[in-house]
Amino acid sequence: MDSKFLPDRWYNLMADLPQAVPPARHPLTHAPLSPDDMAMLFPMACIEQEVSTDRYIPIPEEVREIYGIWRPTPLRRARRLEKALDTPARIYYKYEGASPVGSHKPNTAVAQAYYNRVEGVKKLTTETGAGQWGSALAMAGAFMDISVDVYMVKASYDLKPGRRLIMQSFGATVTPSPSEKTEAGRAILAANPDSPGSLGIAIAEAVEAAIRDPQAKYSLGSVLNHVLIHQSVIGEEALRQMDELGVYPDVVIGCAGGGSNFGGLAFPFLGEKLRTGRDTRFIAAEPEACPSLTRGKYTYDFGDVAKQTPLIKMHTLGHTFVPPAIHAGGLRYHGMAPLVSLAHELGLVEARAYHQIPCFEAALQFMRAEGILPAPETSHAIRATIDEALEAKEKGEERVILFNFSGHGFMDITSYQAYFNGELQNYTYPQGLVDDALRLLPNI
Ligand SMILES: *Cc1c(COP(=O)(O)O)cnc(C)c1O
Repeated sequence: MDSKFLPDRWYNLMADLPQAVPPARHPLTHAPLSPDDMAMLFPMACIEQEVSTDRYIPIPEEVREIYGIWRPTPLRRARRLEKALDTPARIYYKYEGASPVGSHKPNTAVAQAYYNRVEGVKKLTTETGAGQWGSALAMAGAFMDISVDVYMVKASYDLKPGRRLIMQSFGATVTPSPSEKTEAGRAILAANPDSPGSLGIAIAEAVEAAIRDPQAKYSLGSVLNHVLIHQSVIGEEALRQMDELGVYPDVVIGCAGGGSNFGGLAFPFLGEKLRTGRDTRFIAAEPEACPSLTRGKYTYDFGDVAKQTPLIKMHTLGHTFVPPAIHAGGLRYHGMAPLVSLAHELGLVEARAYHQIPCFEAALQFMRAEGILPAPETSHAIRATIDEALEAKEKGEERVILFNFSGHGFMDITSYQAYFNGELQNYTYPQGLVDDALRLLPNI
């Protein structure tokens, strides 16, 4: 692989946004967080990145060496998909499925494990939904010699043993959440012994476990500013790769759960737009079953259901949100990254919500043309991409589309089985439930 494309720096959108990101606030006092408040959970280097307005942040050499195992990831043109759609649009994708665990998530996992190790941390606790984040952190922990405790959403723990086994193979401990190991878990189980769990609940457990152990810190796989900074390696690389090809995207697309793979690809291009006035559109694609960006409110909310995490200003469906169990994808978090939320609020990023059946159709269309099975999350980006390509065809427009292929679906094959068996339903999250949850938001 051509390592000249592997950047030696991350990009930070906070340097170029016309407005500052509102500060995170203390869960009890509601005062802006001090670095000390965050020091219980995160290493100092990540806390500094969380509030940094430096445009570029150097990638530590050891992290860059590990990136070199799978980076630069391929930037491919989906010519056969273009042909199948009979579109004048050119479709490029950044293949993050090339990482050892099959998604973009190790880009931040490796960086976070590195900074924790440098600061003497012995254990990382975290949550995982479908298991992608847990396997990324488990791998990073193995590389950096830190033990990793993963609280895995129970529905996925039962449905996706493959990823659980990968985490265990890397040496991590995996606990189904809600669990009896934490107060937060016990409270949920007391109220509902059959709770399928949710990312919010698993976060509450992982945070509690980190706070109780002085040797441990907590690690989050999406949402936070430092995570989006680490993921910018995707977009920085894509800028260089597209430059080599002599093309530039008219539209940049990513699926959005917590916002990190979308921000990771889009923000370096958004920075170009903000600095040089380039005419690029940005589309975040999310599920109708968890529509935080399209139907959530931009306001301060907790990151977890136990109200332990700092309050962050973001698009949210309410911290009490429990995603419908029928939804196959892993885009199930109630909130959206503050940076993606602010960019959307400022009109710099469009959001679209899709039902899962048309997303699976798009994924299979992609697979039959290009050969790679997409993760159910990624299928949302592919749906948006195909819709853009078809619109370009209708308008007779040449259009360069770049999307983030956030991960492959080889470990999610049971979701496809459900699709083939006709077991999937389109589900619109009821507005009444959104309104109810929003009434429980803190008053800031
Ligand atoms: C985790 C994950 C996502 C969603 O998370 P973001 O932080 O929004 O990127 C999307 N795609 C894949 C393959 C994932 O593993």
